[in-house]
Amino acid sequence: MSEPPRLLLVRCLAPGCFHEAVLDAKTLFPDGDRPPPGRSERFRCVCGAKRATLEYLRRRPRPPNPCGWI
Ligand SMILES: [Zn+2]
Repeated sequence: MSEPPRLLLVRCLAPGCFHEAVLDAKTLFPDGDRPPPGRSERFRCVCGAKRATLEYLRRRPRPPNPCGWI
C-alpha cells in the first residue's frame, strides 16, 4: 500500500476571498481519520468563513501556509 498524500490544500470559498493554505495532513490527522476531499466546513479562514474545498497533494506547490489558516 502506498503512502497517502501528505499535504492538504484548503481553499476558501467565500466570495472575494482567495486565501488558501497547504497543511501537513500527517500532523493534522495523525490517526489517519482524514476528511474527504471536496467541500468542507471543518476549517476557518482568516476572513472568518468556514466554507472551503479540501484537496490532498503529494507535493507542496507553494510556500507553506501563506495565509495563516489554523
Ligand atoms: Zn477566506
